[in-house]
Amino acid sequence: MKVQFIFKVIPVFIFYSDFLLKSWMAGRSFGIFVIVRKKESTTTPRVTAHEITHSKQYYRYTGLTVILTMILDYYSGSSMQYVWAFVPFMFPLAFLLISRFRYDMEIEAYRVHLTYFSLSHRDHARMNFAGSLAANYKLKGYTVDKIYIDLV
Ligand SMILES: [Zn+2]
Repeated sequence: MKVQFIFKVIPVFIFYSDFLLKSWMAGRSFGIFVIVRKKESTTTPRVTAHEITHSKQYYRYTGLTVILTMILDYYSGSSMQYVWAFVPFMFPLAFLLISRFRYDMEIEAYRVHLTYFSLSHRDHARMNFAGSLAANYKLKGYTVDKIYIDLV
């Protein structure tokens, strides 16, 4: 287990395990927790960077949801407790249900991921990531060619 800080103050706990990873996944982010596949030890910095990007997205969008809920709470005049209960789940729900959102989040994470490759290997990795995104993320209408272009 390792700890890294995002936005300088929020700890992210990184576990090296295959727990909760689908066969094609090298890692997975659950906000404050990140899982990196054990056999990815040689590629750990870039896989971790990808997953930490998702953790940053989680806090960025959850922060935004908190602000919007506070505004709604202030002006609604009625009890908002039931809405507050959903706040931590809004980012994972949006990621799960909205393919365009999932796509944008993955493009951002894979762009970070790509910066860890040397220039001579980057184009090959970009092609592999475009293929993986098209195959594994349930993105209708996003072809490998389109994803490849968006991954610049
Ligand atoms: Zn990702």
